[in-house]
Amino acid sequence: MASHAKLFRTDADRVAPDLRHRDIIQTAMHKYEVVRDQRKMWFQDWPGARQLAAETKWVAVNHLDGFLDQFARNLEARGTKVHWAGDAQQGREIILGILRGKNAKVIVKSKAMTAEEIQLNEAMENAGCEVIESDLGEFIVQLRQEPPYHLVFPAMHLTRGEIKQTFQDKLNDASSDEPEELAGVARRVLRRKYLQADAGITGANFAIADTGMISITENEGNARLTAAMPKTMITLIGIEKVLPRLEDLALFLPMLAAMGTGQPLTGYNTMYGGPRQPDESDGPEEFHVVLLDNSRTLLLADAEQRDALHCIRCGACLNVCPVFRNVGGHTYGTVYGGPIGSVITPHLRGLTQWKHLSEASSLCGACTETCPVKIDLHHHLLQNRRNGSRQKPVGWQKLAFALFAAIAARPAMWLLATRVARFGQRFHGLLKGTRLDPARAWTKTRDLPPLPKQSFHEWWKERK
Ligand code: SF4
Repeated sequence: MASHAKLFRTDADRVAPDLRHRDIIQTAMHKYEVVRDQRKMWFQDWPGARQLAAETKWVAVNHLDGFLDQFARNLEARGTKVHWAGDAQQGREIILGILRGKNAKVIVKSKAMTAEEIQLNEAMENAGCEVIESDLGEFIVQLRQEPPYHLVFPAMHLTRGEIKQTFQDKLNDASSDEPEELAGVARRVLRRKYLQADAGITGANFAIADTGMISITENEGNARLTAAMPKTMITLIGIEKVLPRLEDLALFLPMLAAMGTGQPLTGYNTMYGGPRQPDESDGPEEFHVVLLDNSRTLLLADAEQRDALHCIRCGACLNVCPVFRNVGGHTYGTVYGGPIGSVITPHLRGLTQWKHLSEASSLCGACTETCPVKIDLHHHLLQNRRNGSRQKPVGWQKLAFALFAAIAARPAMWLLATRVARFGQRFHGLLKGTRLDPARAWTKTRDLPPLPKQSFHEWWKERK
């Protein structure tokens, strides 16, 4: 089987020159950038808000044990069952166990990247359950049997025409590609499923320690229906999603909306603190919260990159990343794409297999500059590269750098090398594009600029 690195290169080579793909992404990003910048201006002091958000997450992550304990105790006091999942398999087993106990066969699910992370849908389907994604974008990619393309916009790579075609092929519905019609098709299917569902599974955006509540922010109301209609609600949430206080949401909800979708606030913001209480008219009879580690504590133990746990999954770093915009979300081959994905995936899934993601970066720093919680993303990519090369340096790279260091440290050799290179480049045109071209990996997609006719040393000597 091809390695993840090889698959990445093959897919990147295929997608990057695809002008149609580029056009769809650029159009979507341009619209996003305009509204995002408007919303940032609604903050009285955007740099101050970023600083406060970074400090709040720093406190939360650096005292994670205490806040998680407080969060769990507060939830349990209102009758919620809290489960701790060390890894993906444990997460799946806990949820399948709950579903078996309830004899649940029809499951509605709202957007949860943690569920993608532990491949929960496949596990539930293998156990004989029918699983329906209720977020519109997720519903579309589920019908197409594709993974989500983006953290926030799962079907961003599709045109309205393609969505209409998918609905016609899979549901025999959709008479036009008007957004209202397409949303209507999904609504007709989903409304029936909410009523039939035995259990609802959600993710969560934040876990509030001092009140013991989860916060879900969304635009379609689907997470609300997923949580409220079935008798059993299960929330799968990464342990890093903790915020210390309820009042922190006053900053984080508008910040996530501004950077995620360019809105002042998303359409629906809901807090869940437990199952339905005797004096309440709706809500689930049973509420389970599954707290997922799955290597997050390994990242917590890494003082250099711990701040990657501050991520609020707004997707803003993906949107500004020139690599993501060219190679697209599916090329990453992992749940979390873009700069944040390239930083955390080697921690979550192994450095050896996933270090190539950190190499696929121009290190322009646009991700770090945009991140609302000030994660030092591009330096973390560099650190991953360093860790990767320490782990198992590639032989030819070691040799090439040793040779370069030896030549660069000796002026006479450097002078000789530049003369040889200048002479040799006259013949490069003959070899260009052939297997004998030593620079073919470079010249395949870029120009090789000619060396100047005179070096600085020669110019200086001449002037003297
Ligand atoms: S790393 Fe920052 S910009 Fe990227 S998704 Fe996370 S919070 Fe958003």
